[in-house]
Amino acid sequence: MTLNFETDYLIEKLKEIKPKKVLVQLPEGVKQNAFDISKIFEELEIEAVFSGETCWGACSVGLEEALAVKADLIVHFGHAEFIKVDFPVLYVEVRDELNLKPWLEKSLKELEGFKKIGLSYSIQHRHDIENVIKFYEDNGKEIILSEKIGNVAYEGHIVGCQYSGLKAIEDKVDCFVILGNNFHSMGAAMSVEKPVFLIDVYNDKITNMAGVRDKILRQRIISIEKLKNAKNVGVIIESKIGQKFGVQELMIKKLKKAGKNAILITMNELSPDKLMNFYHVDCFIELACPRIAIDDYAKYSKPIVTFKEALVALGEKSWEDILRMGIV
Ligand code: SF4
Repeated sequence: MTLNFETDYLIEKLKEIKPKKVLVQLPEGVKQNAFDISKIFEELEIEAVFSGETCWGACSVGLEEALAVKADLIVHFGHAEFIKVDFPVLYVEVRDELNLKPWLEKSLKELEGFKKIGLSYSIQHRHDIENVIKFYEDNGKEIILSEKIGNVAYEGHIVGCQYSGLKAIEDKVDCFVILGNNFHSMGAAMSVEKPVFLIDVYNDKITNMAGVRDKILRQRIISIEKLKNAKNVGVIIESKIGQKFGVQELMIKKLKKAGKNAILITMNELSPDKLMNFYHVDCFIELACPRIAIDDYAKYSKPIVTFKEALVALGEKSWEDILRMGIV
């Protein structure tokens, strides 16, 4: 990775905002850069406290930590704004400055036979997107960026739990190209029915996501069946500010109406060890990041389903409805 932490932008904003103390949030892959980043704050005589909590997505805004350390600004690296919070947050998106041409050239072979391409990118590639569009247009393709719907910050921007912008253009394109990583493209493959190709600059390959989709859909059907047969159900909510979807009471009511025992469980972040002692629970429904149930299927000994999947198990939606809506 050739990361640009947008230091000039950061310094300019810090001089403008003039914070005394900041909480710094770094995604997992860049926590190793904490020392370099700390120098920027030292030079400006701003006290910096680095968050040691996980920061998988822009939903993880460390509001509670910022209040606990009495920071007056959160500096959140690596993501674009996802939710509005009642606290000053400065987002530094971080650019990955790569020469994408070799991968774009490689992708042309996979894209033979596809004329209209739906394009989405992870935030680190935003600065390159005009060049990417031009490359494909010069090579006879028509590019449509995914729409800015829901929590994404820009047209074409992709986040792991919001694929409505891709669904919105699905009828107009022959396939999708995701410029990003496996996480984003897997979510796309779960959400649209047209072919999805990942330009994976980190593993140096172009991946057709078709096989992945089939495998995951089979796992999801197994988990839904387990909820249908479960007697005791744990409904999990996370306390992260960006994951308050507010449907827990409704879900508990639905479960009870279906004759199941249901309890509500809260935690900062879902992990296998935290569920271990709820051994009387047959199945969990998680109302936090929908990707935990889907991507971490193999990590959990008990089945976990998402809100949409729970609706299928409870007979309120059909599996076909969910496929149409997108399972993420
Ligand atoms: S809810 Fe999950 S997919 Fe969505 S931004 Fe947060 S970590 Fe990413």
